[in-house]
Amino acid sequence: MLKFNTSHVEAVDYIIVGGGTAGCVVAERLSASGRDRVLLLEAGGSDQRFWVRVPIGYGRTFNDPAVNWMYEAEPEASLGGVRSYWPRGKVLGGSGSINAMVYARGQPRDYDDWRELGNSGWGWSDVLPHFQAIESRGDGVGDGERTSGGAVANSARPALRITDVSAQAHPLVRAYIEACGALGYPFTPDFNGAQPEGVGIYQITTRNGLRDSTATAWLRPALRRRNLQLLLDSQVLRIECAARRATGVRYTRGGQMVSVRANKAVVLCAGSVNSPQLLQLSGIGPASLLQGLGIPVIHELSAVGRNLQDHLGISYFYRSRVPTLNNRLYPWWGKAAAGLQYALTRRGPLSMSVNQGGGFIRSDPSLRAPDLQLYFNPASYTSSRTRTRRLMNPDPFPGFLLSFNSCRPTSRGHIAVRSADPQQQPAIFPNYLSTEQDLQDVYKGARLMRALAATEPLAALIDHEMQPGAAKTSEAELLQDFRERAGTVFHPVSTCMMGPAPDHAVVDARLRVHGIAGLRVIDASIFPTVTSGNTNGPTVMVADKGASMLLADSE
Ligand SMILES: Cc1cc2nc3c(=O)[nH]c(=O)nc-3n(C[C@H](O)[C@H](O)[C@H](O)COP(=O)(O)OP(=O)(O)OC[C@H]3O[C@@H](n4cnc5c(N)ncnc54)[C@H](O)[C@@H]3O)c2cc1C
Repeated sequence: MLKFNTSHVEAVDYIIVGGGTAGCVVAERLSASGRDRVLLLEAGGSDQRFWVRVPIGYGRTFNDPAVNWMYEAEPEASLGGVRSYWPRGKVLGGSGSINAMVYARGQPRDYDDWRELGNSGWGWSDVLPHFQAIESRGDGVGDGERTSGGAVANSARPALRITDVSAQAHPLVRAYIEACGALGYPFTPDFNGAQPEGVGIYQITTRNGLRDSTATAWLRPALRRRNLQLLLDSQVLRIECAARRATGVRYTRGGQMVSVRANKAVVLCAGSVNSPQLLQLSGIGPASLLQGLGIPVIHELSAVGRNLQDHLGISYFYRSRVPTLNNRLYPWWGKAAAGLQYALTRRGPLSMSVNQGGGFIRSDPSLRAPDLQLYFNPASYTSSRTRTRRLMNPDPFPGFLLSFNSCRPTSRGHIAVRSADPQQQPAIFPNYLSTEQDLQDVYKGARLMRALAATEPLAALIDHEMQPGAAKTSEAELLQDFRERAGTVFHPVSTCMMGPAPDHAVVDARLRVHGIAGLRVIDASIFPTVTSGNTNGPTVMVADKGASMLLADSE
């Protein structure tokens, strides 16, 4: 098929930087008319890899440099001075090609907060139609809140397949749900429906037992279009600007430096680490930082890289009296049986996420929204701070994990380039646990873990608590344990925050970079605040809505 070829082309209409969760959606939407020429530049390679497509492969891609930027945060005083490991997808589909596949819209309150922060058009009632449009359900289950646009049989629009795996969940998940019920936390059959609060079983983004991503659902079918060009292994080094307008980008591919112009817009979809990095490298950011590194300041925008938010979680580790998934997946014959089951049916543990049970709960009923997110994993493996995810090699005894993180952390970190060299990893300062509220959430979560483990029917299944261990009971001991073992849940956002004031935010409510024409950021970095749950679904929503705005504005 004839496509335009950028080695001969100097200009296109839209350049999209980053073919991750957001970038693949934006590329599909902008190229749909067939009129505009769209170039998608992705630093990583193809997502057509066995361990990307098979859900259990999460354990492999987690630390595979072939598909992962494998970042490390700066030593974090609040976590005992360690450098947290920050995996990020460097592959088509981005982090959506290596994530744990849990699908969660978040809580309506999250988006009403976005609107109340001055972002008109981003309240729950505004974003709900976009969620409905991006979701497709294979099982036909749903309620009034979930009439999926994407699932409509003759709809031409792509959508992410959201799979309900409750029929396959490990029996122990039921014990977890019943124990939650006994503590007063209600069951919800659908976190992404009319009752997003409560405890239940996470839905995951798989299609026929394979990972579904925006690369598979949006981009791949769109690549048939003659006006859409994808270049893999193409890393953008800077955004070119003239007279406060983005005019194009400079990228490297196969050792060559190439410049391309954008007639309409450059759209930054490089994610929460690389979008602020690229703006800073291009002279758009905090003037003092840029001047100190000899980067000419094109436009001072102090919020670039600021407002970093992330979910910080910990697992409580229990030895079980009854068999868990460890008993199936530890012995070689168990692995072989699971592999065979997957090969024949695309079902079983290899088709699932590590996180089966979960919840969004209020630790105090007087709160206006859930403050803790829970996970129940019917297997156990090494601690969350390490670079390994031994999914296929769990502990040789029955064990399971109960985990929590604060839904709405108030600590704020930042990201800053270290030099003008685009190949150097930017410095990541998460600044976890720097507010009293975040410390209080640690105590609340720890108390809840202990309460759940002491509640039937879960209590009867527990032999003993392996970590933190029953000897640790005081708040000081539990906080110290949290500092030693907690790790990122991989949801960094807000480093190019959306907001009305250029001195506090990077983009406006139409995702235009304040003060620079022809430049938008459309990815997880624009979230004004982190959503209460996992961030992939909300990023797809942002991409769908952001693309609609861009198309409307350029008409
Ligand atoms: C290990 C892990 C587990 C997770 N688990 C879950 C989960 O279970 N559920 C959930 O909802 N969320 C999860 N997340 C988070 C979720 O995947 C992200 O929030 C989401 O993918 C962010 O999308 P994005 O488009 O902002 O960035 P990304 O998807 O990361 O896309 C950015 C893309 O830009 C490319 N890029 C970067 N710099 C350049 C450059 N200079 N030039 C060209 N291309 C560039 C990158 O290679 C990448 O492909 C997880 C994330 C990780 C890493």
